[in-house]
Amino acid sequence: MNHHDMRQFDLIKFARAHAHQDVPLTGKLLLAELPRLFAENAEDAPDTPPILWSLQNTHHPRIGEHSRRLCVALQLEAHIWLTCQRCLQPYLHTLSLNNTFELMKTEAEAEAAPIEEDDVDPIVGSHQFDLLGLIEEELLLALPLVPRHEVCAHPALATLPISSLPTEEAGRPSPFAQLAILQTKKGAQ
Ligand SMILES: [Zn+2]
Repeated sequence: MNHHDMRQFDLIKFARAHAHQDVPLTGKLLLAELPRLFAENAEDAPDTPPILWSLQNTHHPRIGEHSRRLCVALQLEAHIWLTCQRCLQPYLHTLSLNNTFELMKTEAEAEAAPIEEDDVDPIVGSHQFDLLGLIEEELLLALPLVPRHEVCAHPALATLPISSLPTEEAGRPSPFAQLAILQTKKGAQ
């Protein structure tokens, strides 16, 4: 599916027509095709694998298959180079999502939808739905607030999980203080 079709996707038709099919609609995107997400990619980073997306109709997880409520599941697998906030080195971060959306008729209806257990997000269904926009939005929302390696390879912070770094409460320098020292060292090189 090209970008134009993804920007004007008939989501209502899809959700209805695929009501009893198990075959998802799938596609690939380059990170650079999602400009707001690409803006978060570390500068001068190598290429990332393509973003994989898959859209499938699904049952409302709490109401079940006999409901007339239209739901779709969006699965995303994306990679982006982020800068580790502990060692300041870029690393390839994996975003893996599987979100369920319920199609609402209007914006007002979507806003009034009760926020239940957060397992279904209301969206306004449309015959010209911006599927590309939804994919980008979901990936942006999934970005970590504080990107970091699970284990940094930086020698000064080698293999210390974040929880074991000294804290201010213990009367020792905070991780942020350590980071500042590292930044200073880096700057001095
Ligand atoms: Zn790191």
